[in-house]
Amino acid sequence: MNAFATDSTDSTSPRLRSSSAHAVAAAGRCPVCERTEFVAFRAVLFRCAHCGLVVNPDAWREGADEALEREFFDEGAYVPDESAWVRLFERLNAARTLAQLRAAGARTGRLLEVGIGSGALLVHLRDAGFDVEGCDLSESVARHARERHGLRVHVAPLERLDGAFDVIVMNHVVEHVSDPVGLLRAARERLAPGGVLHVAVPNVASWDASLPGWTSYQPYHLVYFTPGALALAARRAGLRPLRRRTNEPFSGWFLALARTALGCSPHDAVASAAAARAPSRASSPAGLGGHLYRAAMVTAGLASWPLRAAQARVGRGEEVVLIGARADVPVEGA
Ligand SMILES: [Zn+2]
Repeated sequence: MNAFATDSTDSTSPRLRSSSAHAVAAAGRCPVCERTEFVAFRAVLFRCAHCGLVVNPDAWREGADEALEREFFDEGAYVPDESAWVRLFERLNAARTLAQLRAAGARTGRLLEVGIGSGALLVHLRDAGFDVEGCDLSESVARHARERHGLRVHVAPLERLDGAFDVIVMNHVVEHVSDPVGLLRAARERLAPGGVLHVAVPNVASWDASLPGWTSYQPYHLVYFTPGALALAARRAGLRPLRRRTNEPFSGWFLALARTALGCSPHDAVASAAAARAPSRASSPAGLGGHLYRAAMVTAGLASWPLRAAQARVGRGEEVVLIGARADVPVEGA
């Protein structure tokens, strides 16, 4: 796919080979390619010299997944932000996911979303004709989705779910786990023959990620993918990538620049102890200021549309999307 011809994090990239001169000792194996050679990245992060995956060393700590889940996403009553702005952003994201599913030929059938948030995506996909259900680790997130939207939601990890799904959606989930290949494999095992998996993750090879205030530098992100590393993870999980692309959402540059101006950096964002203590310097303002802030964000996003589209086309948008099918099912018509 020519959009990724310029992906310098591909394992054959001369730039990466030369950077291995600065190899550093890391505590474990790459969670995607299982090699052990790393180069220093930003803050405490390491980049795999072979597949380009960026790893938070917390990923090698026993029990890190559960500890981070408890620290940052612990139960409390889940109260989603239902402001008009947030609903607008959720609708735009949902429309993009639907368009990408349809482009991959998925139009109806049984659909599972892993990690459901406010439930907005499931509602959008239900309205588009899918038979939807969700799974989430949080009882209060599930309760909100059931009561507010009448959605069917299992409170369980994907690995404990039975069934065969025509579509599984995992948007911004895989970067939270220390074994991304295992989670993708669990999804593949629950795909019906001919089913497709839609995965979206932050793109550490995006131009936005070169700014210290990039919104995805977070203590609870254990791995950071490039498009090439995500495709490799999918293949190792028994999936055949059908389509991959990057998106540059209209808030990407606005938030990364604003947070950089406010002094946010990966150094205090990524180390969980520091982040937990630090006051949130970049939360969205409220009241009239909040409306002006979001209006400025939308205006900047609309005005920069041609640039954002070009950025996404060359594989440097801040979100990577991959659609994959079971590698053990022959391609139709082949
Ligand atoms: Zn690797």
